[in-house]
Amino acid sequence: MSKQNTVIALTKGRILDEVLPLFERAGIAPLEDINSSRKLIFDTTMPNVQIMVIRGSDVPTYVEFGSADLGVVGKDLLMEYGSEGFYEPLDLRLARCRLMTAAPVGASPVAGRIKVATKFANITRRYFAEQGVQIEVIKLNGALELAPSMGLADIIVDIVDSGNTLRANGLEPLQLIAQISSRVIVNKAAMKMKHAVIGPLLQQLAEAVEASNRA
Ligand code: AMP
Repeated sequence: MSKQNTVIALTKGRILDEVLPLFERAGIAPLEDINSSRKLIFDTTMPNVQIMVIRGSDVPTYVEFGSADLGVVGKDLLMEYGSEGFYEPLDLRLARCRLMTAAPVGASPVAGRIKVATKFANITRRYFAEQGVQIEVIKLNGALELAPSMGLADIIVDIVDSGNTLRANGLEPLQLIAQISSRVIVNKAAMKMKHAVIGPLLQQLAEAVEASNRA
């Protein structure tokens, strides 16, 4: 891959579906349908700009080390894995959701150390430490909603959008930990070296965000 290319790291699923229309407004569209391809890197309508598709939790790593020049990633992952290694210049205000605690509907408060199941171990530890509440984190990778009814945890910390997933599993949201949305992150060296491409791109994305929030 030529270092002259500017590489944008995106994630399949919700972020890709919501972010591609915004990139299109900024003049960048993949030359083939990403969702129906097994390829991981795509040329775009903008010469020398490529889109790569990787796991959300890998986006910060690729951008920090400069294999991708910029990326789009949820604030939840930035809060969990740290955001010191790159710039975070733009909130796309997409894929919005909330990071919340949730417990079985009507459950009484737990006496003593609370068992909390979550994918977000660092955020959870920080949040409860700030509250001065003693917890034990149980790190899971999915299906968190099952943990309380299976006796693994008292509560969970998870992403909530409509609240349907919690409700379907007999849980209710309790405390708001953070509002989450998709952020653009940029490699620090690329911000200087490739400013001729990245500067206008950020500007166009910011204008597209403003336009879609006015619409
Ligand atoms: P909901 O049932 O609408 O509250 O959606 C909750 C589930 O969808 C969560 O367990 C998340 O895994 C997923 N989810 C919803 N919104 C997002 C988002 N913006 N980013 C990542 N995952 C999300």
